[in-house]
Amino acid sequence: MKKLYRKVKSILYDCYCPICIGYWDEWIENGFEFEILKKVNIIGGGKRKHLCPNCGSPDRVRMIYSYLHSKTDLFSPKNPVVLLHVAPERQLLDIFEKNNNIEYYPCDKFNYGNNVQKADITQLQFVENFFDFLICNHVLEHIEDDAKAMSELYRVMKPNGIGILQIPYSISIKTNIENNEIRLPEERELCFGQDDHVRIYARSEYIKTLNSVGFKVSTSNPYSAHWDFNPKKLGLNKREDLFIVQK
Ligand SMILES: [Zn+2]
Repeated sequence: MKKLYRKVKSILYDCYCPICIGYWDEWIENGFEFEILKKVNIIGGGKRKHLCPNCGSPDRVRMIYSYLHSKTDLFSPKNPVVLLHVAPERQLLDIFEKNNNIEYYPCDKFNYGNNVQKADITQLQFVENFFDFLICNHVLEHIEDDAKAMSELYRVMKPNGIGILQIPYSISIKTNIENNEIRLPEERELCFGQDDHVRIYARSEYIKTLNSVGFKVSTSNPYSAHWDFNPKKLGLNKREDLFIVQK
């Protein structure tokens, strides 16, 4: 009966949030509108309708959830797994905390407290080869020495681990837009599209930097990779690939 009810709902509504199991007519509009973001055709950023009206999950959170649900055993591990979650999104944190098979390490440089540890990803306090999973979603574009952060993430990940290191990116540019002298929030808004971003990633340079610290990088697109949930219903961007790293 429940299955039939869900089927009818999914026909009636355009949007489905797998985080809070809710059906909606549309997502809430959110995001920045700076000219530079349009100019580089930013993917994973900019003003768009993407927030869940109930749990507030952005599109990238539903994307990561869908990938982890479909392609990994994180939610039903046969053995316990150790997970590092940098700058944890509340919606994912709530799910991970409830799962007894996940030894969970949510970390944040600024918003720590409760169960979230203080951590700087350019200098992590964990031993090498410690984590089975890493999730670091829309963080690296805030970090000046992003290669150092990547090498730290590489160091703490187990050799057979899986990392999701998502960033907003552009395929219209060949090299990153980056300048260490641009520091004022209003300058960063104009140049990088957000007052606390320090660069706009070119897809190709992002992959190159990840490779330079040792990561093997693959990408997965929810529209072609047959994940468990319908990407259109989840409000995912057809152009947005998920970046997956391995050691
Ligand atoms: Zn939701």
